[in-house]
Amino acid sequence: MATLILAPGRERSVLRRHPWIFAGSVDRLEGRARPGDTVLVQTQGGRALGRAAFSPASQIRARMWTFGDESIDDAFFRRTVVRAVAQRRDLPELAREFGPDGGIRLLHGESDGLPGVIADRYGDVIVLQITSAGGEKWRASIADALTRATGIGRIYERSDSDVRALEGLEPRTGWLAGDGEMPRPVIDEFGVRIEVDVAGGHKTGFYLDQRDNRRLCGELARDRRVLNCFCYTGGFSLHALAGGAAEVLSIDSSGPALDMARRNLAHNPQLDAARAHWLEADVFQHLRALRAEGRKFDLIVLDPPKFAPSAAHAKSAARAYKDINLLGFRLLSPGGLLMTYSCSGGVDAGFFQGIVADAAGDAGVSARVLRRLSAGADHAVGLAFPEGEYLKGLLVRAE
Ligand code: SAH
Repeated sequence: MATLILAPGRERSVLRRHPWIFAGSVDRLEGRARPGDTVLVQTQGGRALGRAAFSPASQIRARMWTFGDESIDDAFFRRTVVRAVAQRRDLPELAREFGPDGGIRLLHGESDGLPGVIADRYGDVIVLQITSAGGEKWRASIADALTRATGIGRIYERSDSDVRALEGLEPRTGWLAGDGEMPRPVIDEFGVRIEVDVAGGHKTGFYLDQRDNRRLCGELARDRRVLNCFCYTGGFSLHALAGGAAEVLSIDSSGPALDMARRNLAHNPQLDAARAHWLEADVFQHLRALRAEGRKFDLIVLDPPKFAPSAAHAKSAARAYKDINLLGFRLLSPGGLLMTYSCSGGVDAGFFQGIVADAAGDAGVSARVLRRLSAGADHAVGLAFPEGEYLKGLLVRAE
């Protein structure tokens, strides 16, 4: 095994158990290693820090598999996957997601000790997304470990995220284990049925991270006029209908996502379809049109796509967040509720709150934060890995 020797003083973050070793922290590699190979990580003084996956193409030159001296082999991945699944099984709030039509993130990358490895389970299908050279090397072992840990034999790969290019990896999609039709599992999210387009949808097909927030939306929606911006396949909208919303207007720029949203409404015949309106439009433009019409809403959801993938984009992202939140506040009735989110890694919670406060100020609205919102317990974030906490939200009440 080759040895990666860190530059002087560069071991601090690794000692705190942060899993990333940037190119600038590396002094040299002793021996040969190909992409994804396991390397020993050492300080200048020769102190062993653990074992990592080598990634010569990436600015993140190595990602830690272990901070100890265990071998990185099939057994390592079995142990790690079993632990990740067991930690979720231990949480009562996730118990229902282990039922036959549950939806749950089983592997959350770095936070589960598996950098660049995401696994989402939708009913009887697991969707695997690999974005690191190390994960790529061990993908068959990880898939096998998932099947052993869950009993689920159908694993579909959605390794087509843009970030793979940074690792020198080509996109790859398709069945990794098992086979069959294009998978379209239907999950049950607190009584709302949602079809997931595993092969064609965004990311792994669905945004499981918002599960608890969609439920909260349902709890808040009774008799309210709801506006759901960036609705994707309708998750927040369906929960709002289930919670007794007076009407729900849902906007997305993606036609296929809206087709799926309408299908999802049909999967839930208990809901009053007459109260649901779907609109294919650009949110930035259409909110201005709604304002010009003098429309008001009592509950507004703003769940936009990632505007800032990294801190370098924070400034332009801030403008976009400010713009939609300003429009949101202007459309909010007195006493109205705003659920507003950022899933940008480059925008932290404090910065985001500042942007939302600026937007309220510009709209001439006084507001209070009723709750801070985040992803669910299946997306738990490693204590030393704040980068994993990408989703942050606020539930705000206007005066
Ligand atoms: N809230 C959703 C997830 C939203 S993902 C859920 O709970 O499942 C973000 C969505 O924003 C995507 O569906 C994407 O199609 C849409 N989108 C991106 N830019 C947009 C724009 N300018 N106007 C409208 N929709 C947009």
